[in-house]
Amino acid sequence: MNAKTSARPPLRPLDDALAELLTFARALKGSDSISTFDADSRVLAQDLVSELQVPPQDNSSMDGYAVRSSEIADEGVPLPVSQRIPAGSEAQPLTPGSAARIFTGAPIPAGADAVVMQEDTEPAGEQIVRILSVPKPGQWIRRSGEDVKRGAVVLAKGERLTPAALGLAASIGMDKLQVGRRPRVALFSTGDELVMPGEVAPAQMKPGTIYNSNRFFMTALLRRLQCDVTDYGIVPDRLAATQQALKRAATDQDLILTCGGVSVGEEDHVKPAVQSLGSLDLWQIAMKPGKPFAYGRVGDAHFIGLPGNPVSSFLTFLLLVRPFLLKLQGATQLAPTVMRLPAHFSVTRADKRREFMRVRRDAEGGVQLFANQSSGVLTSTVWGDGLVDNPSGSTIAPGDPVSFISLAELLA
Ligand code: AMP
Ligand code: MG
Repeated sequence: MNAKTSARPPLRPLDDALAELLTFARALKGSDSISTFDADSRVLAQDLVSELQVPPQDNSSMDGYAVRSSEIADEGVPLPVSQRIPAGSEAQPLTPGSAARIFTGAPIPAGADAVVMQEDTEPAGEQIVRILSVPKPGQWIRRSGEDVKRGAVVLAKGERLTPAALGLAASIGMDKLQVGRRPRVALFSTGDELVMPGEVAPAQMKPGTIYNSNRFFMTALLRRLQCDVTDYGIVPDRLAATQQALKRAATDQDLILTCGGVSVGEEDHVKPAVQSLGSLDLWQIAMKPGKPFAYGRVGDAHFIGLPGNPVSSFLTFLLLVRPFLLKLQGATQLAPTVMRLPAHFSVTRADKRREFMRVRRDAEGGVQLFANQSSGVLTSTVWGDGLVDNPSGSTIAPGDPVSFISLAELLA
């Protein structure tokens, strides 16, 4: 959409804007082969097919005695102990009429079909054990392949790796994994009012200035998404300076991400700067907070402009930039889980825009609302553990089911 600045451009529904944004996010070319140890949170670029069964053999899940269950019709049967099988050793076939001493994780000897746990036995002389309970066939045996069958796809291309997934990959012998390349992201903040913590002490802050808070959470969010971040600092509110920064960033970055300056004010130079150097495709989303949002291209780089208000940039990042960056890495699961939970609050005035409210789950299984939902109040995002996605034009009464999205999931 080419918005020649009419005073009120039409707002795009969020789902539309997100769907269109994601069509622009083609997976980056190239992948990295990295150690499985280093692959947490990266996106798998290959199907992982198991060459073996896990566990590889039937093995014992208890310390005890491997037996033939048919040989133990009654409690109290004494059996000679014919072999000892610690974990990591090979078992000999079980001599008929005997028991094998066995330990957790050790292979079940051929012929045995059950394990009697140590606690259900007692010594009955030199190398003789008395079985005190009648075993059921198959008891305390972990079957070969009960976790993974040979030939199974244990993790699919496009899955984002978790610590558990790394363990599973290692269990089929993978010490290296092929993963999507890290997106290179140029970050810059705009706003002549911004100063950096550490450069000016709180007591020395000039009137009209504020600390650049967005730069900190945006950097952290990008790092969590495994991006390579180049920070271009604070760009002054001037067209020429903005154009210059964009041009520099466009040369070797996958995405240029800015915050601030994408609204309709005269000091908002990001939009005209992008239009003068490239193209701007999306503009203004029907969501609250976070209306000003822009997607475009500068040279070969994607451009995303986020609103400057801290909560707006935080939420638009989580709801739009996050899936965009995951898709660039080849991820297939992009949408967060939505849970229906009862509201422990009320919203009496409906808003025209779809609203994402900062809430917190309580011990009763419902959600409570942070009192101040202003887009400048970053405290709400720390207090909250989730968002309520409230459709446009909706009021909420206590007890109404609402759509809850966990921040932990969005921040992972
Ligand atoms: P803008 O989108 O540039 O009109 O900014 C909207 C509001 O967000 C203004 O109050 C700005 O001062 C504030 N803001 C913009 N960028 C930042 C930032 N990096 N950190 C904190 N506040 C910001
Ligand atoms: Mg500004």
